[in-house]
Amino acid sequence: MSDVLEVLEPATAAVLELVPAAGVEAVDEAVAKARAALPAWRGLAPGVRASALRALADKVEEHLEELALLEARNAGKPIGGARGEIGAVVDVFRYYAGSPERLMGDTIPVAGGQAFTIREPLGVVGLIVPWNFPLLIAAWKLGPALAAGNTVVLKPAELTPLTALRFEQLVLEAGIAPGVVNVVAGLGPVAGARLVEHPDVAKVAFTGSTVVGRQIAASAAATIKRVTLELGGKSANVIFADADLEKAAEMAPWAVFDNAGQDCCARSRILVEYSAVDKFLSLLQPHVENFKVGGPLDPEAMMGPLISAKQRDRVASFVGADAPVAFQGTAPDGPGFWFPPTVLSPVDPNSPAVREEIFGPVVTVIPFKDEDEAVRIANDTIYGLSGSIWTRDGGRALRVAHAMETGVLSINSNSSVRVSTPFGGFKQSGYGRELGPHATDAYTEIKTIYYATT
Ligand code: ADP
Repeated sequence: MSDVLEVLEPATAAVLELVPAAGVEAVDEAVAKARAALPAWRGLAPGVRASALRALADKVEEHLEELALLEARNAGKPIGGARGEIGAVVDVFRYYAGSPERLMGDTIPVAGGQAFTIREPLGVVGLIVPWNFPLLIAAWKLGPALAAGNTVVLKPAELTPLTALRFEQLVLEAGIAPGVVNVVAGLGPVAGARLVEHPDVAKVAFTGSTVVGRQIAASAAATIKRVTLELGGKSANVIFADADLEKAAEMAPWAVFDNAGQDCCARSRILVEYSAVDKFLSLLQPHVENFKVGGPLDPEAMMGPLISAKQRDRVASFVGADAPVAFQGTAPDGPGFWFPPTVLSPVDPNSPAVREEIFGPVVTVIPFKDEDEAVRIANDTIYGLSGSIWTRDGGRALRVAHAMETGVLSINSNSSVRVSTPFGGFKQSGYGRELGPHATDAYTEIKTIYYATT
């Protein structure tokens, strides 16, 4: 077992920083600290906890440029995108600063007295996050968890721990007491696994692969831990012949190549109505070829490298005789884990490129003959996270939206994640919802109190 995490810069493959790896003992200490900090944090008046979250948002905003640069270099993102992500972290804390004073219950008519419900924090919550949007996905969990009065132990991905570690310091600078937020940067099967099995952890909120999500759900069962899982995707971008094809072709690359395709929402299957396939592909090609790949500080870069050599090799393995390259963009030569934006067509419907989550800048194009077939193909996957529908027929857009088995969808747009709207998966994309007003429910227990009046 390694006691140091060698944190690389994906654009150069050079070591960016060596970070001591948190092992089982460090996790146990963090959980103990979180437990000790719980009574005071949950006991704060709601308005005071709200102020603390607002102060945290301000602190992150003050350090936006520093955090964005760290994220861009460590996760291999264009700096503009990284700034947007840290800006979204600020928005998440501001949004959830509104929650402590809105954690409302119900009053329920019963015989002989009064029944009502209150929402209480769960206790110590473990947050396990991936490397694709490191601080942003952490914030999606931290915001509602802290707002509801829980204390947390956050385990960032071993490849991208740097912004989480800096964030831990900023939490203290924002005036939040030690122990409320604890960061353990360690290996998944060691530090992550310990957090999931720890008897004093009430809940685990996980974002990552479906494979690890299954292990976490199984391991959490031993202590009946609450679990929310945000897992993989194989989302469809469904384009009907009557759509604004120019706009659909301009936006489709962003729906799958953004963040180098390392996005659980990536629309990695483009479904196109037969009669529009040739036209759509000819419109798509220049946008793909001009989708600029570059390093974090390249102001024109639209996507960066992949996170690791392993990830790049895995992505490359999906290209083959059953899924050949139709056209692709260009990427810098090494060092760095580069892979060009790539369109695969025509594809065998049973090829791994069509069936599996690639998590890279690779998209398959699949023709369909009518609305029913579009829905059948879109739903022919174990996943159900995201998706887009492009058509000028409003009735059809809504029929298809209702029929698609997916947690978030956009019509004539790629945009489906917002701080104020719930986000999460159907089927093996997970369970539970993040963001929006519903997310706080997942960090609270409902307690029912009956007060006898006679
Ligand atoms: P990805 O495919 O995005 O790397 P993973 O599911 O492998 O996603 O990892 C997501 C997070 O889960 C990371 O923080 C990783 O360290 C953690 N992790 C990996 N394996 C385990 C495990 N067995 N138990 C708990 N956490 C784990």
